[in-house]
Amino acid sequence: MPKKSKSIIQEFAELKNFTIDAPSVHLLSYLYCMKNRVVILNKVDPANSNPVNVGLANINNELLIEEIKSILNREIIPVRLNDFEIHKALKIGFYLEEEGVSFRLKLKPADEASNSPDATMVEVLNEIMGLAARLQATDIHIERYEDDVDVRFRIDGILHQITTSLNPESIAEAISRLKVLAGLDIVERRHAQDGRIIALYKEGGVERNIDFRLAVIPGPFGEDAVMRILDSAKPFIGLKKLSLSPEVHELFGNLVSNPEGMILVTGPTGSGKTTTLYSVLHDIQSIDKKILTVEDPIEYTFDKVNQKQVSEAMGFAEYARAFLRQNPDIMLIGEIRDEETAAVAFRAAYTGHLVLSTMHTNDAVRTISRLQTLKIDSNLIAGTLLGALAQRLLRTLCQNCLYETPPDEREKLYFGLKSNDTKFHKSHGCDKCDGIGFKGRIGIYELFVPDEELSDMIACEKPVHEIRHRALQKGMKSLLTDGLEKARQGLTSLAEIRRLVPYRHIIE
Ligand SMILES: [Zn+2]
Repeated sequence: MPKKSKSIIQEFAELKNFTIDAPSVHLLSYLYCMKNRVVILNKVDPANSNPVNVGLANINNELLIEEIKSILNREIIPVRLNDFEIHKALKIGFYLEEEGVSFRLKLKPADEASNSPDATMVEVLNEIMGLAARLQATDIHIERYEDDVDVRFRIDGILHQITTSLNPESIAEAISRLKVLAGLDIVERRHAQDGRIIALYKEGGVERNIDFRLAVIPGPFGEDAVMRILDSAKPFIGLKKLSLSPEVHELFGNLVSNPEGMILVTGPTGSGKTTTLYSVLHDIQSIDKKILTVEDPIEYTFDKVNQKQVSEAMGFAEYARAFLRQNPDIMLIGEIRDEETAAVAFRAAYTGHLVLSTMHTNDAVRTISRLQTLKIDSNLIAGTLLGALAQRLLRTLCQNCLYETPPDEREKLYFGLKSNDTKFHKSHGCDKCDGIGFKGRIGIYELFVPDEELSDMIACEKPVHEIRHRALQKGMKSLLTDGLEKARQGLTSLAEIRRLVPYRHIIE
């Protein structure tokens, strides 16, 4: 008998037998629903605590069912729906403007697209890209596998799988459509191509343009696409909005008001280097200074800053050389990654300009050895480098569902924590954070400022570990120390520090 009853439950229900009530659907967040393939069905009456019908793709996922019960704080009746119907219900519940939800993306040229046979596909892309913008994703990944299509959004540095109506039959059309919108060659399917798509995004009655940088790459089952999202509405509001500790903020603030010298921001891709440099520009821009930048790509435009984008014809080094003849006060060179750029950047920095740039090094002091391998003379580094700021972005614990908890034995050992050092935090996950337990990101920083003694050590080509050791002795706060301080304040977790701070720093 149990077998039979199970098989009845296992049958798919039909969406048309339920109503979709937008305020009820909203009791679970969009991202949560998309990630877990769930949707609330029928009207939920807040006045009682009657069980709620919840559509699920997998009704045997007991953990998920328990989690939804605890979020809604009432019993639920699991209803098995296929992905298509869940998606449809979510679209009705969340997406339609007239239902009071509030975001809409229009790919340009909208008029031409809406009358073409591709209109349905454009609608699908509008939805995916609009959702990514609304969730403040930084990237959209559309990947083609043999029998499957994955769409994932990178939000706060972590990829999240999203349910969409794209499938192996429709993905080629979707990518062709993106290529058309980005002005790429749709016939070319054997080489990687890059382009950009500008879309009009509307949320809460306010419109703005969002720039999607499309990169298409061929694969065995067709093309994959990644779109980097450059949203000019993202605030770059100065150094005080970064999470620099007060002493680092003051020291770094002093460095950037120097009339000449080199300041480097270092860290891996996605560690927030651009945000830091833009914050500096925001603070130092003024009518009496000429500021030139060369970037790849320009992510945010400033009113009084002359910004250039690298191209095939002109790279970082060529722009930097040309800038020297433009009589600037301050130059921002997006990245130093070759000898030529390093040489021009340092020439600018010791001939009376303040130069800001980034490098891909693990920590602040290691910048020195990287510059030496790029053939910059050690005396020149010693005399020109004002400071190097290493940074990482850690996810911020959701302040709504965090709780204090002592570190476990493994964490104590890993971080070498003292037995009375117990005030750390974790989070449960709640509807405010889409069940993720994190919301937003916070920077951790390590600022190396060579004084006379440290400059001498650089000039004498002392080993980097000795310079680092001496800098730490003299009070440089390491990435690890800054991270642990922020973890004690409940801003991030030990697991996040472990994920992003180099192991070498932890054992030093
Ligand atoms: Zn939460």
